[in-house]
Amino acid sequence: MFETQGPFNNPELRRLIRLCNLEHTFVQGQGVWLTDADGRRYLDAYAQYGAVALGHAAPEVSAAVRAALDSHTPAMVQPYLAAQAEALGAALAAVAPGHPRRCVFASSGAEAVEAAIKLVRARTGRSLVLAANGAYHGKTLGALSLTGRAEHADGFGPLAPGFDHVPFGDAAALEARLARAPGPIAALFLEPIQGEGGVIVPPPGYLARARELCTRHGVALVLDEIQTGLGRTGRLFACEEEGVVPDVLLAGKGLGGGLFPLAACLVADSWWDERFALGHSSTFANNNVAAAVGLAVVRALAGDGSAPGLVARAAARGERLGAGLRRLAARYPRVVAEARGRGLLWALELQPADETQGLLLGYLQHQGLYAYAAAAVLAEQSSVLALPTLGTSNVLRIAPPLVVSEEEIDLIVDGVESMCGKLARNPCETIVRSFGWLRADESARAAARTPAPVPPPSPPSASAPDRRRRWAFLVHYTRPEDVRVTEPGLARLSDAELGSYCGRVAELPAGLCLRAPVVRSATGAEVDGFIIALPLLAEEMLRRGRRTMTAAVQHAVDLAVRLGADVVGLGGFTSVFSNRGAAVTGRGVPITTGNALTAAAAYQAARREAAARGLRIADARIAVLGARGSVGALMARLAARERPAELLLLGNPQSDPAALTALARELGADGTAVRAVTDGTLVGNCDLVLSATGAARPVLDALPIAPGTIVCDVARPPDAGPAVRGRADLTVVDGGIIALPDPDLGFGPGNLQGLPPGVALACLSETILLALDGTRVDHGVGDEVPLAEADFAMEMCRRHGFRVAARGAGRLDAARVRGGGAG
Ligand code: PLP
Repeated sequence: MFETQGPFNNPELRRLIRLCNLEHTFVQGQGVWLTDADGRRYLDAYAQYGAVALGHAAPEVSAAVRAALDSHTPAMVQPYLAAQAEALGAALAAVAPGHPRRCVFASSGAEAVEAAIKLVRARTGRSLVLAANGAYHGKTLGALSLTGRAEHADGFGPLAPGFDHVPFGDAAALEARLARAPGPIAALFLEPIQGEGGVIVPPPGYLARARELCTRHGVALVLDEIQTGLGRTGRLFACEEEGVVPDVLLAGKGLGGGLFPLAACLVADSWWDERFALGHSSTFANNNVAAAVGLAVVRALAGDGSAPGLVARAAARGERLGAGLRRLAARYPRVVAEARGRGLLWALELQPADETQGLLLGYLQHQGLYAYAAAAVLAEQSSVLALPTLGTSNVLRIAPPLVVSEEEIDLIVDGVESMCGKLARNPCETIVRSFGWLRADESARAAARTPAPVPPPSPPSASAPDRRRRWAFLVHYTRPEDVRVTEPGLARLSDAELGSYCGRVAELPAGLCLRAPVVRSATGAEVDGFIIALPLLAEEMLRRGRRTMTAAVQHAVDLAVRLGADVVGLGGFTSVFSNRGAAVTGRGVPITTGNALTAAAAYQAARREAAARGLRIADARIAVLGARGSVGALMARLAARERPAELLLLGNPQSDPAALTALARELGADGTAVRAVTDGTLVGNCDLVLSATGAARPVLDALPIAPGTIVCDVARPPDAGPAVRGRADLTVVDGGIIALPDPDLGFGPGNLQGLPPGVALACLSETILLALDGTRVDHGVGDEVPLAEADFAMEMCRRHGFRVAARGAGRLDAARVRGGGAG
């Protein structure tokens, strides 16, 4: 035996699947049931994308293989006659519409598609092949070019030339296209129902009209029934619904009995081509044992005279499944946008996750993972396996093996109903529980350590020139409680569960995002925006270290660019870990730390309190704590400009005093009394204390602040703890809070930091203002922010109808004062 360490095949896909808790190791399959290594049974409602049409370990299939092996049938004898392959070709021809006279076997659907492309080109001498928008024909390069969808082709270009696309289901557009250039077109490839495109059923009559048009223009009609064929839609081939006979018919998936890779390209005599016949080959084609299985499948589906085939039964089961799913769509309109399909091929199109209701839902929606999350809920809560269609983010496909019983159909519908009910009540908690993120299971945790690869987010949705300008603001959790604020769906979680959630969500790359409401300026300008979260606590960021965190912030800025941001603001530690923005400039979007408005608004709030008290700045003794930081330094500059009676820059005795001394010298150059000091007791002589340290603990609580002092605390976590805030003889202002033009506006549930509606942190406000203002340059980047930037920020506030919030408007709640602050 080979020992494998960790995922051996495609580890990137495995991690994504593990993230969604969809990783199961199935050890047994029987009919529609799969059993995993822990003995849990799941009802298979996806049938390996249709390949397991007769169910797992189908008796007919096993018998055919045994008989072939027992009789020593030679599997591979090319180029000699393969008797079983001949028989299968004839059997398929006997049941396929129009009874085609030729058959080419292949080892995958895509290979059958490739053969068909070559055939129609060889037969017509024309190169151009048409397909439909939204189609899916496989992933080899020719099939991918025929498919033509950017999401499948990204990174694999250039695609092969000679393909063009028409709208699916639009006969008039097809007619116009064929009339415009009838000459060089070799063929039109269509799926009777687009499977991977989201189970899209064309309008009645479309296929028949396409047939007429192709005949009229001498263009081959190739029907790709690799997904819809062999009973899947309640008929042996879906084109029978409209009595259409194609020139070339492709089948695959279930043909191999869920055991062999086997596909077929069936060709009408009039479209066969000698050059193709002599020029095309494939080593593993015409496998006699695989063909014996294919024969058993065709017999089981079509019947053999003595008993009706499975197809008729599948049609009846399909009616029951469709009726059930449609009923659910009507009952849960907030969860299901539409149920559509035919036979046993159904899609449940989910409503987009409400990304204004929490960061995780926004993340799943934007990464195209919401339908996978729904699949996880269905599997975990109801033991039903269904998976999304490829390349369509919100469609869950329900396509069980054709042998499914009535009772099993009811189990599937019941499971989907339970999923809908849970997603309607509390999508976030339901998904998080189904992902297994609330279990304190160390091994699962360790397995999730490596971040899952994330598909690129959807491109900016509005790239039209007249679209609103857009901002993005980066945040992180500052304490576990923040999860309850930003994810109200998780409010009921215990502390242990919350801790477990934080551990799991921390493994996600930046991308948790929340779409913010439109902000309207007093000038009438409008902007929209995104909050993008690094789902980490500050402690965790510190533990990971600067290099890792800088890369994470860069990743988040790049994500913001892809989401169409015109300016990116850095909240909390994202500013610290990007060197106050310096590490993320030049990435195609202006950056702001928001420090200019934070300092200016905090200083103005303090000044307002002083004025209310009749205290003139010229007579005031002011202390600034944290003046080595960019916000503290800017507050010191703002204070010095007004020439107070005394300005103390209070430094940490453990730090190098040089920077503070230099700043004191610079600010005192015009004669203002400015001193750099380390003795904290000196705040006892001050009237105004402006505090912006990065100490992350209530440093002011230990200082002898005199009665009557005005304390303006702009630090997050706060410098003023319960001792200072509890004193009735002090005025404590939480600085850096801005009142928005709209008093009802909030950013996500809980307004991000638990702030009341109508106010926002100054750093976020500056980001929004810069978007409104149409900035093209960085702001507040680096350690030294000039006074002019503070003035500019306040000027923007005035112009756009933003104000420094009244005292108490952004008061921190008690838990935040104790445990940590805002970002
Ligand atoms: N054509 C259609 C309509 C399909 O649905 C698929 C697969 O899903 C293919 C072609 C490609 O088949 P395969 O994955 O076997 O290459």
